[in-house]
Amino acid sequence: MNKIHEELVPPKGGLAIEVEQGQTIRLTDVEGRQVIDFVVFNLDDPREKFSASYSCGRWFLEPGKPYEPRTTIGEGDWLMSTTCRPLMTITKETMERKGVHDLHHRMCNRFFTNVYANQDLDGCHEIIANAVEPYGITYAEIPDPFNVFMNYPYVVEKGGFVIADPITKPGDYIEMRAEMDVLCAFANCPEDACTACNSGECTPVMATVFEDPSFEPFPVLGHYEWLMKEMKERGLR
Ligand SMILES: [Zn+2]
Repeated sequence: MNKIHEELVPPKGGLAIEVEQGQTIRLTDVEGRQVIDFVVFNLDDPREKFSASYSCGRWFLEPGKPYEPRTTIGEGDWLMSTTCRPLMTITKETMERKGVHDLHHRMCNRFFTNVYANQDLDGCHEIIANAVEPYGITYAEIPDPFNVFMNYPYVVEKGGFVIADPITKPGDYIEMRAEMDVLCAFANCPEDACTACNSGECTPVMATVFEDPSFEPFPVLGHYEWLMKEMKERGLR
């Protein structure tokens, strides 16, 4: 793959970046233990955007296995859209334990920083909204995020989720390949005051975009046509 863009996003910073079909974005946790609140939009129609719940709840089962809802996604899984078709595919994760991400906790925002951290500062929602503003996407249109590297286990004895220290080491990364032309946007979560989300210290993230010279463009199908094609390829129709 050829590197076509690289940008270091500072602690508590954000970025919006276009990624064309077939290109891959790599997000590197430069110093480790930094959560990235990530969202993605269909570049041609941003009303279609990332769906955390479809991403968790729609995938092809291994033969013979029953459907059971899952709580996270990882290498090999799709980032699904609000119309239930893939925006991106997670192609690589380097963490010691893959799939340690969160798809349940809404991103931090001014409510969170003021009420829980007693600081009147931008949260991930404001940081992402500022980054996507040039694309005409508003604060109200930002979906629930893919909280990359957020360690948010469900603790049975407690009967709820806990925010734990991330497990990423310096240089750990995730790669996601675009299945259509997309707009990716993310915030380096600025929460360092009241939870273990970023282990109490916010650090930079490197965003790198690669293109595959052998990539052949393919048509982006509507939800149902895409579904039927995938089922036929698996011998399910
Ligand atoms: Zn945040």
